[in-house]
This record gives sequence, C-alpha cells and structure tokens, in this order.
Amino acid sequence: MERSLQFRIVILLLCISESLQENKFREFKSCLLERGIEPGRIVERSDSNEYIALNFHWQLKRPDIFPLAYVITKDEDSVATSVACGTEHKVRVVPRSGGHSFEKYSFGDNSSVVLDLGNMNSIDLDKSASVAAIGPGALV
Ligand SMILES: Cc1cc2nc3c(=O)[nH]c(=O)nc-3n(C[C@H](O)[C@H](O)[C@H](O)COP(=O)(O)OP(=O)(O)OC[C@H]3O[C@@H](n4cnc5c(N)ncnc54)[C@H](O)[C@@H]3O)c2cc1C
Repeated sequence: MERSLQFRIVILLLCISESLQENKFREFKSCLLERGIEPGRIVERSDSNEYIALNFHWQLKRPDIFPLAYVITKDEDSVATSVACGTEHKVRVVPRSGGHSFEKYSFGDNSSVVLDLGNMNSIDLDKSASVAAIGPGALV
C-alpha cells in the first residue's frame, strides 16, 4: 500500500477513535448528572485553573498525563455512582487518594477519568473497639 494512503488511514482511525472516546465521555457525564452528581464536581480537561490545579504533576519521571476529567467525590455514594457510570459507558475510572504514586498510576491516562478522593479525608476512631475508619483522602 502506498505510504501516503497508509498515513491517511492511520489519521482517519485516530479521528474515529477520538470521536468515539468523546461520545463515551458525554454519555458518562450525562449518567453522572442524571444520578445526582453536582456539575461543579466534574472538572473536564481544559486550561481552567481548577483543572490545572487538580492535574498538578510533582513527579517528573514520566511525561505529563491529561485525563479527560476529574470527578471530585464527596462520599461512598458518589464513588459508587462514578464507577457504575464508567462501567456502563466504558470509560476508565481511576481512583486517586494521596496521589503519591511514583509511577503516576493515580493519573490514569489521557482517556481516563480520575476520581479525586481528597475530600474524603475523615478519621473516626472508636477507642473502645480499637477500630479506626480512615478516609482514602486522609494524609499523614
Ligand atoms: C516520598 C515517597 C516515599 C514513599 N515511600 C514508600 C515506602 O516506603 N513504601 C511503599 O510501599 N511505598 C512508598 N511510596 C509509594 C507510595 O506511598 C505508594 O505509591 C502509595 O500507593 C501512595 O498512596 P496514595 O494514596 O498516594 O496512592 P495514589 O497515588 O493516589 O494511588 C496509587 C494507586 O492506587 C490506586 N488507588 C488510589 N486510591 C485507591 C482506592 N481508594 N482504592 C483502590 N485503588 C486506589 C490508584 O488508582 C493508583 O493506581 C513512597 C512515595 C513517595 C512519594
């Protein structure tokens, strides 16, 4: 096959894949909104200060990643809803707790949605039962 034709086919496939990914994300977002996730908790990829702050990369080991969006979760229900919508609409959902992974695993990749668990940082201690319930966003 001629080289320029091969090149055009690759570009076409990339465009189709990008558009499918965008559709999946739109459906995923509608699913979140329909199930009660407040719009302000969904921060889509953009050059907004909020996205830039959420997507801060302190690790320099691998190239920066730009997930499709961040969902700022507030409780178990919002996590469950996000995972369910991700599964239903085939969008990769990645949890981020402290965000200290050296390998940047908590950023997922450019086609994932990151669940930012940072607000779920409560620590409840039941001394009599010697049991502590620690939110995934609690930092040392
Ligand atoms: C300075 C420094 C020192 C370190 N020292 C050590 C050490 O001594 N020993 C050691 O073992 N590690 C060490 N680490 C590595 C780090 O502690 C681990 O990578 C740890 O997983 C980070 O926790 P985190 O909550 O920040 O995870 P994140 O970076 O938020 O996530 C790490 C991975 O776990 C997933 N994940 C996050 N939260 C959840 C959740 N609630 N449920 C399911 N999956 C989840 C993420 O998607 C990601 O794949 C060190 C890191 C740093 C920066």
